Amino acid sequence: MRGKLITLEGIDGSGKSTALERLRANPSMSNVVFTREPTTGWIGEAVERAIHSDTDHLAELFLFTADHAEHISKVIHPALEDGKIVISDRYSDSRYAYQGVTLNNRFDDPIGWIQSIHNGWTVLPDITILFDIDPAIAVGRCGNRGEQTKFEKIGFLEDVRANYLRLAKEDPQRFVIVDTDRSIKEIETDVLELLTSVI
Ligand code: ADP
Repeated sequence: MRGKLITLEGIDGSGKSTALERLRANPSMSNVVFTREPTTGWIGEAVERAIHSDTDHLAELFLFTADHAEHISKVIHPALEDGKIVISDRYSDSRYAYQGVTLNNRFDDPIGWIQSIHNGWTVLPDITILFDIDPAIAVGRCGNRGEQTKFEKIGFLEDVRANYLRLAKEDPQRFVIVDTDRSIKEIETDVLELLTSVI
């Protein structure tokens, strides 16, 4: 039987990493394959370079998308065919939400265009958990993270959040929105309950 793909999405500082750390430590998650985008492979490293430099936004999108293709063929497909539960920290919706903002001036419908270059080969998640929070709070939480990347400015994150909420509205069957302006414990309980019902 094919496994299940669960993706975690949200703006920077929405609490994904914190929740994931706790999930990983939970005994009920011991057989789950945890993965992420950008990947830790060489294409993922190239993506990190793009994120931390003044790279053309379209070039950046193609790097992210190349990394997604590699991730699917090397990790996602094999694990799902093996019947595994896969949880990915960021996935295709990150591209639609973030590059949907950075490419706003280049295309009339940037999200639609980015989705179109994924069509036919990407693997759709069974469920996507959207960590939703006010960007001002998220950026405040990241205050001690050192120098912010270009993706962490509040105005930019407001647009990214709007894109995420639009994506969630367009696909309510797949998306579950979790309010992360709450205690870590409350968020963990909600996410665990959700995952247990899916797994
Ligand atoms: P992300 O992975 O989504 O970028 P993180 O999990 O790294 O976000 O969280 C960003 C910062 O906010 C971290 O310093 C983390 O300790 C803190 N944090 C995460 N979740 C909460 C929460 N529910 N309440 C308060 N602070 C939080």
